Amino acid sequence: MENLTQGALNEIIKQYAPKEYNSIIIDNAVAIKRYNYCYIEAFVQRIEYKTERRSAAIDDNLAENLRSALGNDNKPYVKISPELVEQFDKAPRFTTEDFFSSTKKKMAELMNGGREVDHHHLELAVERNYIANVQSPYAVKTDCSIERCPNCEGKKTVESTDNQGNATTIPCPKCKGNGNIGTLAYFIPKVTDKKTSLTLCLEGEIDGFPPSAIKALIDEKPLAKRMLAHYNSIDYEAFDEALKPYLDIVRDKTGEGNAIEEYYYKIIPCHTFSYRNILTGELKKGVVVNPSDSPEIVFIGNGDTKLVNRMKDSAKLVSRFFGNIGRSSSLRNKQDLKHTVRLMIATVVADGIVSEEEKQSLTLAIRNIDELTSKEQEEMTSLLSYENTGFLTDDDYHFQDIANANETLARMQEIANSDGLVHETERELIERLKLEIDA
Ligand SMILES: [Zn+2]
Repeated sequence: MENLTQGALNEIIKQYAPKEYNSIIIDNAVAIKRYNYCYIEAFVQRIEYKTERRSAAIDDNLAENLRSALGNDNKPYVKISPELVEQFDKAPRFTTEDFFSSTKKKMAELMNGGREVDHHHLELAVERNYIANVQSPYAVKTDCSIERCPNCEGKKTVESTDNQGNATTIPCPKCKGNGNIGTLAYFIPKVTDKKTSLTLCLEGEIDGFPPSAIKALIDEKPLAKRMLAHYNSIDYEAFDEALKPYLDIVRDKTGEGNAIEEYYYKIIPCHTFSYRNILTGELKKGVVVNPSDSPEIVFIGNGDTKLVNRMKDSAKLVSRFFGNIGRSSSLRNKQDLKHTVRLMIATVVADGIVSEEEKQSLTLAIRNIDELTSKEQEEMTSLLSYENTGFLTDDDYHFQDIANANETLARMQEIANSDGLVHETERELIERLKLEIDA
C-alpha cells in the first residue's frame, strides 16, 4: 500500500469534508504519518487431554468387555464407551502400590499431561465443522492390563482357617472374589473455545483517536477464515502474511489453538495530519482513514472528535466490496466478475446521481480490482457517469457460476437496503437477477 502525499491528502479532505476544509489550514510542515490499524476477530479451539487411571478387581464379564474394547490393532489409543469407564468406577478398587507404581509412572511419562497425544490417532466428534465440546474417552492401550489376581491366581477363592482351626474356602479378599485385576488407563479430550476481537496498531496509537473509532468502520462481518487446523486427520497452517505480525498479541489473549484457529482481520491505514483552526489558530490533529477505499476524515478535537464521510451508504458498501474482491476466493471467473461489477455500479446509479466524492472513491476502488485489466477498469469507471442503468445488457444477468450470481444478488439486496428505502429501479434489477437465477 502506497503512502499518501500531502497533495492527495489535501484533495481528500477537500472532497470529503468541504465544510471543515474551509475552516481550517492544513499544516504542511508537519509530516503525514501512517499508522496501520488492524481489526481482528479470532476464534480458537484448544484440546487438552485429561488423563485418568482406574485399577479394579473385575469379574470375567468386565475383563472380557475391556479386552474386546482394546481390540487387536496397533493403534496406541482406542475410543471406548463412557459405560466402560463407569463399570470400572463401580468395581472394587484394587490397591497394591508395588504392583502398579511402575505402570503409573510410565503412564505419566507417556501422556506427559496429554502433550504427547498425536491427534492423528483420534477420531474427535465434530459438530458443524467445529470440534464438539463433548468427546469420548480413549484408552491408552499400552497401559491397560488384565491380570489374574496374584493372591488367588484367578481362582476367586482362597483357603482360610477359622478361629476354631477349621479350613474353609472363602472369596479371595484381594479381588473380592472377582478373580481378575484390571487397569484402565484413559484420557478424555477436553475442548475449550476462545473468542476475542481487538484492534491493534503496531506503530503505536494516535492520541485522541480511540480504537473504537476503527471498530465503527467495520460494517461488514464476513466469516473468519480458518488458518490453522490440527484434528482428526486434518493438518494445515496457512496464516495470511499480513496477519502474522499480530498473531503473538492475539494469542496472548486466546492462547494458541492446537486444534483450530480462525481469524477475520482487516487492515485500515490511517494517516495523521496537522491543521490549525482559522479562527483560533490552535494546532490540532486529524486522521484520514482508509484513503484508497472509502475515506473517512476524523478531526480530533477537545472531546468533540468527529467522523466525516459524505458518501451515501450504497456507494460506501460498493466501494468496500470492490476493495475486498481481490481477497475473496469467490468470483474467480473473469466474465462473472465483470457482470458483478457492472451490476454493482448499476445499483449505485439506480438510487440517484453519483456525487463527485462517491465517483472518486468508486474509481479508486475499481482501479484496485487487480483481476481487471486497466482497459477494463477504465470501461467500468466510465459507467459511473450514467444517470440510469441503461448500460446494462441481458448478458449482464447471465452468470457462468450460480454461486457468483447468488453472491451478487445478496450484495445487491444489502446495498439496496442500506439507504433505508429500496428504489424502484433497484428492485427491478434485483427481481431481474432473481429470475435469471431461478431459470
Ligand atoms: Zn483373588
